[in-house]
Amino acid sequence: LVKSKEMINFLESGIYRFISNFTFMDPVRVLNASDYTQFRVSHSVYYNRFFECEDKEKTRVSTSSKKRKRKERKPYTLNERERSADQRHQEAKPLLLKAHEVLLGAKDLLHCISNLKSDGGDDDSCCSNGIRESCIEDGKKQSFVELGSVWQAPLYEISINHREENMTTADSGSSLGVSRLVPAFNNLVMNESCDDVEAKILNNRYVLPGNSCFFMSDLKQIHDLIPADTDSGFNLIVIDPPWENGSARQKSLYPTLPNRYFLSLPIKQLTHTKGALVALWVTNREKLRTFVEKELFPLWGVSYSAIFYWLKVKADGSLINELDLFHHRPYECLLLGYCHGEKMNTELTSTYKHLEENQVIISVPGEYSRKPPVGKLLMDYLPGTGPARCIELFAREMFAGWTSWGNEPLHFQEVSYFVNR
Ligand code: SAM
Repeated sequence: LVKSKEMINFLESGIYRFISNFTFMDPVRVLNASDYTQFRVSHSVYYNRFFECEDKEKTRVSTSSKKRKRKERKPYTLNERERSADQRHQEAKPLLLKAHEVLLGAKDLLHCISNLKSDGGDDDSCCSNGIRESCIEDGKKQSFVELGSVWQAPLYEISINHREENMTTADSGSSLGVSRLVPAFNNLVMNESCDDVEAKILNNRYVLPGNSCFFMSDLKQIHDLIPADTDSGFNLIVIDPPWENGSARQKSLYPTLPNRYFLSLPIKQLTHTKGALVALWVTNREKLRTFVEKELFPLWGVSYSAIFYWLKVKADGSLINELDLFHHRPYECLLLGYCHGEKMNTELTSTYKHLEENQVIISVPGEYSRKPPVGKLLMDYLPGTGPARCIELFAREMFAGWTSWGNEPLHFQEVSYFVNR
C-alpha cells in the first residue's frame, strides 16, 4: 500500500495534519520523536484506558443513554448559566462534527489508530529489560503530593545518573555513570544533557528528558520560579489548573483548588520581555469560562485570542461520549491569549502572530486528565523571534527543552511509563 504524505509525516512525528484546521495527534509518537533518545514512552501503558475499557465503556454509555431517555421525558428548562453553556456548545458543534467526519474519512489513519496500543511491541521490551516488572513488584507509585507535604520534604534528594559516553566496563560493555544528588523539592532540578537520563528518589526511578527541568513545589513556593530578569522569562506558558470539579474530587486523583487561588499565579512575572503566548486548559463549566474571561485573563494581563478544541476519540475513531451529553462532553477547550511582559513596550505587540481560531486537535486520551502535548502545535505562534522558552504550570510530566512546575511534575516520568529503546 502506498502511504499518503500525511501518513508518512504522522508515522514520523505523531501529528497528522488534515487540510483544514484539524489535526490528529498520537502523543506517544510526538514524545518519542523529539523528547527521548535512550527510552521510549510505552504505547501500551499510555493507551491503557480507552482500548481495554471498550466493553465497559459501551455498557456505561448504553445504560446512561437509557437513563437519559428516561430523563428526557421530564420537561426541563435550562437555567441561565446552562443556556449560555449550551449556546457555546451549539456554536462549537458544527466544527467538531466536521472534524470528526474528516477523521472518519481518513481510512489509513483510522486503521493506524485501532493499533495504537500495540505499536512498537512494548510489552516484550518491558519484560526483557525488567523495568516494568520491578515497578509492578514495588506495588504502588510514589505520591509526590504526600511526600512533599511532610516535614522531611526538604531532606529528600533526587540522584541523577548521567551516562559517561567514553567509559564502559570491559566485561559487560554497559555504560558507567556519574550520579549527582540534589534536593528533590523546592529546587530547580535540571537535566542539562541532550539525552534523557534516569533519576532516583527513594527507591523509585524516573526518566528525565534531555535539556529539561522541573521545580516540584506547592503553589505557595511558585514565586521562587520568577526569573531575575525578564529576558530569562518564558514565551510559552501552558497551564492546566486543578480546577474544582466533582470528577477529580470523587476519584481523589489529585488535590483541587478554588478558583481564587489561580488569581495569584505570577503570569506577568514569568513572561518574557517580548511577551508570552498563554494557553489555559478549561473544563466546560460555564461558571469557570465566565471566571476566566471576566476575572482571570484580565488580572493576568492576557488578551484572549483564540480557542482550540481537544476532541477525544476511542480506538475505533468514535467519540468517547455523545457530543450532546451535557456534563460529559467528548471535548475540552484550550483558551489562548498573549500576555505583555511587565516592562513591555506596546510596540512589541506587533510581533504577536495571528492565532488561527477554531483548531481541533483529535486524540485518544491517556490517563485521567492527561492532556495531549500541544507544545509542538503552538511553536509557530510564539511572540518575538527568539528561541522557544516554555513552561508548563501544574505539570505532571516533563518535555525536552521545557520547565515543568507543579506538586507532581514527575508523575508520568516514572519508569513504568517507558521502555528501553
Ligand atoms: N496537565 C496535567 C497532565 O496533562 O497530566 C494535569 C494537571 S492536573 C489538572 C492539576 C495538577 O495540579 C495535579 O498534578 C495536582 O496535583 C496539581 N496541584 C493541585 N494543587 C496544587 C498546589 N497547591 N500546588 C501545586 N500543584 C497543585
